Amino acid sequence: MPPSLTDPADLVRRWRLPPGDLDAIAAASARFPLKVSDHLAAQLVGAAADDPRARQFVPSADELVEREGFVSDPVGDAQVQLAGGLLQKYRGRALVVATAACPVHCRYCFRREYPYGDASAVNHWPAVLDALRADPTVVEVILSGGDPLSLPNATLARFVRDLEGIPSLTRLRIHTRFPTTSPARVDDELCALLAETRFAPAVVVLHVNHAAELDEVVRPAVRRLRATGAVLLSQSVLLRGVNDSADALAALSEALGALGVVPYYLHLLDRVRGAGHFEVPEAEGVALVRALTDRLPGYLVPRLVREVIGAAAKTAITG
Ligand SMILES: *Cc1c(COP(=O)(O)O)cnc(C)c1O
Ligand code: SF4
Repeated sequence: MPPSLTDPADLVRRWRLPPGDLDAIAAASARFPLKVSDHLAAQLVGAAADDPRARQFVPSADELVEREGFVSDPVGDAQVQLAGGLLQKYRGRALVVATAACPVHCRYCFRREYPYGDASAVNHWPAVLDALRADPTVVEVILSGGDPLSLPNATLARFVRDLEGIPSLTRLRIHTRFPTTSPARVDDELCALLAETRFAPAVVVLHVNHAAELDEVVRPAVRRLRATGAVLLSQSVLLRGVNDSADALAALSEALGALGVVPYYLHLLDRVRGAGHFEVPEAEGVALVRALTDRLPGYLVPRLVREVIGAAAKTAITG
C-alpha cells in the first residue's frame, strides 16, 4: 500500500490545522487511529478541517463524547459469522471481510471497533471456501473489509480463482474505498483481473461521499475500472457537515453519472460509538432524497437505506 499519513502532528502541520487541535486529534486517534491516504494528504494541503473531504478523516474531540444508543457493533456483525470473516445476513449473498486494512480511516466507520484480528478472511481462507462450498444457496460473494483492495494483486487473484472454482457462485462484487482515496491502486493487473474473471461483469461498489472526492486523479481511475466492463455502483453515507444538503448530494450524483457510476445506496449512519456527531436524522434524509427526486432522473437518485439488525435486506427509508 502507498504511504499514508498516520501521525497527528504531521496531519496538523501538512493540512495547516490550528495547532490547538492537536490534543483532541491525538486523543481521538488513540481510540481509532488516524489514517489518510497519500493521495488525499496531498490533495487537502491547506484545507480547513471543515472541508467536506477532510472532515471525514480528521479525528475530533466529538468522537470521545459518549452518546445514548451509539454502540460498538451497531450492525450485529458478530452474530452472523459463518466462518472467520464470512458474514451472511441476506439470502443468496455472503460478505467476506477480506482484510482489516483500509486506505483511510473514515471517522464515521461502523467497523471502527470490529475485531479484525480474529475475523478477517485472509487469515481463514480455507474455512471461508469450505463454508461457501457447503451452501450452494449463496450465489454472490461480496469482497469487503476493511478494504479488499488492500490485499496485493496476487492474493486477490488467488481469492478470485478459488471463488471461480466453486460452481454455485455466479456473481462477484467488490466494495472499495480505494478508487476515491488512493486511485493509483486501480492498476493494470487489477483491471485485468476484473476484465478476465469468469464472473465478468464484476460489480464494483465505490464508497464516495462528496463530489470533490472525484478529483482529476480519481476520475481517470474510475474510467479505467469502467473500461474493464465492470458494473459500477456507488454507496455513500449521509453525513452531517459532509453531504447533508440537496446541492451536495445532487452534485455527487451528477459527478458519478458523468463517470458512468450508478448511485446505489445512501446509508443513514450506523450508530457506532464515536460517530454521533455525523448523524443526520431520518426525516431529514427523507426530505433530502425527495429533493433529489425532484431534480434528477430516477437512475441518479440513490436509495436511502438503514441497516436494521435481523432484517432480510437493507431497510428502505421512504418516510
Ligand atoms: C450490506 C450487506 C450486503 C449487501 O446488500 P445488498 O442489498 O445486496 O447490496 C450483503 N451482506 C451483508 C452482510 C451486508 O451488510
Ligand atoms: S474504508 Fe470502509 S471499512 Fe475502511 S474505515 Fe472507511 S468506511 Fe470503514
